[in-house]
Amino acid sequence: MALKIPRCARCSNACELKTLASVSGEDGPLKLTLQAMPIFECAKGHKAPVHGDFMIWLIREIRAREAQIAAGKEQGMIFKKHLCGACGKDLAPKPERRQEYSYELKYEETSPFKLELDMPLYKCSSCGKEQLRSTKDLHAHVAQAIVGINDSAGFPHSG
Ligand SMILES: [Zn+2]
Ligand SMILES: [Zn+2]
Repeated sequence: MALKIPRCARCSNACELKTLASVSGEDGPLKLTLQAMPIFECAKGHKAPVHGDFMIWLIREIRAREAQIAAGKEQGMIFKKHLCGACGKDLAPKPERRQEYSYELKYEETSPFKLELDMPLYKCSSCGKEQLRSTKDLHAHVAQAIVGINDSAGFPHSG
């Protein structure tokens, strides 16, 4: 295993590679849940991400996946309108329902873990296609939702 296991930054005890059963973070309409995320944990229970860039990597991975989900188009500078990505007609003003999207992620040599994105879907008033209101809108919430994940995982603030 090429992953370097450091000593704990807070108490300098030896760390072990472990996994966290489930952690969630929310911001605005977006809810993120990670299951079995790999972490470092020392004997005193101090937790840290498996790499200094892990959270940044996570944000990039999530944004890449979000970009694959069908979404509407945003129009207007001040008064925003959301149009269907398929036919260009208005999306319903209120979300139809929430949908959970599951993905498997893998960081370097650590074991794979599960990412769940939970987001509201809006129905097109014309063709009926369900979609995200706008990818850009959700992109904006990823970093803050990750702060929530960071905090519920018990990681120190860094980066
Ligand atoms: Zn420690
Ligand atoms: Zn449509």
